[in-house]
Amino acid sequence: MKRTEAQIASGETRRILIIFAALVLVIVAMILLTSWQAVEQASAAAEARNRLAVASAIDREVADIADFVAESDDWDDEFIEDAAAAPTGIETLVEGDGKFDEVWLIQPDLKIAQAFRSEDAVDTQDHRHNLIAPQILVTQIRADPSQVAAGMFLGSGRPSVYVMGAIPQDSDFLLDHPALAGGYILAHKAIDGDVLAEIGEAMQLADLQFSLVAEQDTSVPLRDYRSLVIGHVVWEAEHPTLTIIASRFPASLLLAGFVAIVGLFLIKQAMTSFRTLNRQARFDPLSRLPNRAALMLRLRMIRKTAPLSALAMLDLDGFKTINDHHGHMVGDAVIRTISAMLRDLVGDRCFIARLGGDEFALLFTDVAQPGLVTADCELLLNALKRPVDVQGHTLKLGVSIGLAFFDSSIRATEAMRRADIAMYAAKAQGKMQLVEFHTGLDEQRLFALEIKDQLIEAIANGEITIKYQSIIDARNGRVAALEALVRWQSPTRGNIRADEFIPIAEEFGLIGALGDHIIDLVLADMPRLPAVRIAMNVSAAQITSFDFASKFATALERSGLPGSRFEIEVTETSLLRNAEPLHLAMHTLGKLGVRHILDDFGSGYASIGFLRRFPFAAVKVDRSIIADCHRSARSRSILMAIVTLAHTHDMEVIAEGVETVEQADIARTLGCDYLQGWLYSRAVPIEDLELGDAVVGTAHIRAA
Ligand code: C2E
Ligand code: CA
Ligand code: CA
Repeated sequence: MKRTEAQIASGETRRILIIFAALVLVIVAMILLTSWQAVEQASAAAEARNRLAVASAIDREVADIADFVAESDDWDDEFIEDAAAAPTGIETLVEGDGKFDEVWLIQPDLKIAQAFRSEDAVDTQDHRHNLIAPQILVTQIRADPSQVAAGMFLGSGRPSVYVMGAIPQDSDFLLDHPALAGGYILAHKAIDGDVLAEIGEAMQLADLQFSLVAEQDTSVPLRDYRSLVIGHVVWEAEHPTLTIIASRFPASLLLAGFVAIVGLFLIKQAMTSFRTLNRQARFDPLSRLPNRAALMLRLRMIRKTAPLSALAMLDLDGFKTINDHHGHMVGDAVIRTISAMLRDLVGDRCFIARLGGDEFALLFTDVAQPGLVTADCELLLNALKRPVDVQGHTLKLGVSIGLAFFDSSIRATEAMRRADIAMYAAKAQGKMQLVEFHTGLDEQRLFALEIKDQLIEAIANGEITIKYQSIIDARNGRVAALEALVRWQSPTRGNIRADEFIPIAEEFGLIGALGDHIIDLVLADMPRLPAVRIAMNVSAAQITSFDFASKFATALERSGLPGSRFEIEVTETSLLRNAEPLHLAMHTLGKLGVRHILDDFGSGYASIGFLRRFPFAAVKVDRSIIADCHRSARSRSILMAIVTLAHTHDMEVIAEGVETVEQADIARTLGCDYLQGWLYSRAVPIEDLELGDAVVGTAHIRAA
């Protein structure tokens, strides 16, 4: 058991660690995920801003060139001072560096009259011959000569902005260049290389450049004069997410650890209270033992591992009576005492549970020697036969034990059922017994349940009758009394023996109803019975119920018969278990003249000293002693001792079960006062009773 607890504890630590790790993981993942999303959102916004900025920077570039063209009336003196002197071909511009690559002066027939190149312009060879641009742009200018026309053109894989305007009619420039009157000025600039690098630098965008293909987020499209996309200005995406996340990792780990610890603390607290509740649900506070739920759990747990187990079901005999007559305080104290006894005697060898009321269970696992389990059960059986001292009362208890061995193929509920059935069998066999389960018990149980169901109906249907067996006076052979014995003639089952259905009636609480009915039957027979005493058997369960004595007294009064016509036979076991109430009932009935006989004496444990406390008029020696007395010296000496002791206590002795003349001789010789048995008469219906019943006996006595 210790080992199991250690295992459970280490399993728990592992579980807690796993939960902790999982919590940390989840929290870190959550933090990183939300950071990721935030960073992604932020960088998406940044890229959108970048796109706008790049687009407007390019627009500005175009505007700058357009400004140059628009303000063409200023540039004449500024940078074309030497133009006239210059030969045809490209001249180098001195001013306006970087704003454009080239400036063309174009005749009205769209031929280039003069081209100037910016100092640091890239190779513009291709553009010089690109006459598509002026042809396209001029159509716009012709529509509105005051406007500057601009357009993007792609040439040799490079995008360039072309801006073109009409040379104003009043320009001084025309004075020196009359051929250019009605002509145009055009400036162009490639949007790549340095331009983009500069924009990129200003905006802190890495690697800003022109590209034919592009990622959507980190580019703006460049459209040509027809608005067709001719390429893109692209830059390198900043990929800060991972870096940011990486930088946040230690902090989030810390936070996660903290949250996990707090979470774990709360979970642990919840688990502890849950477990306490659970434990309370599996714990019986009175006995401080595990309860039925705990046993079921244990049964299910061990089933798969233990090859052979045993379940013993214990039911205290006579507990209800103690509760009824001494109160629940004493009853509770009894449960505590018995629980402690169980723990002391077998606690280290099995799992003990209280199933409720006066029921306990012992679960033995890993049974190597079934004999040891049986020995433990017998140990308890004998220990509980001894009276227990509880709160100043010496109480006679007893225990009935049902035992079932089972292997891993048997389910928990089936193991319980088997032990239960064995326990019922133990009760039915007269209590204070140990019965081991066997399949025959199932049939017995079925039989018992059927009998139980049919008994009440049998009473109503008149299937219950009484037979009478004579009891012979040993001195004169006369019938001194008749014992009333109940019979059940069932239309379906035939004759059911009294010792078959009486214990079932007792077990299922039907003995009260049956007993009342038997009394009614006997009282009804009284007018037709010979004027001898009538002995009636009364079960322990019946006589110890509070109202038996008063009910019997009332019945007597109603019949007008004197109590002295009746004898009541109670068994030794009822004497042991129900001493107090029996004492009371005997006292009440004794006052009415009713005699009491202790039945089956010698079969149990009652001592003469103990029974002296009870006002018995006679003891009836158990049939087993009479059956043996002709061949067993031991039985004869027991019989002799009983006779001697009974007589010294003013009690008569009846020998029952006398079947042979030899037995009758011995019984009479040893001092028995009365003889009863088949030698004289069987139990017969009232119609068959004659005083001649005693003839055999009389003849025998005469012969003796
Ligand atoms: P018991 O009180 O010990 O009754 C004696 C039993 O022994 C009777 O069995 C009787 O028929 C039988 N018997 C009598 N003479 C002989 C004999 O010479 N040899 C043998 N082998 N048996 C003999 P029965 O009637 O079957 O009753 C069995 C038990 O049932 C009784 O044992 C008694 O404990 C119980 N019982 C019978 N009638 C009643 C009753 O009306 N009320 C209650 N509560 N119990 C009853
Ligand atoms: Ca009897
Ligand atoms: Ca008897």
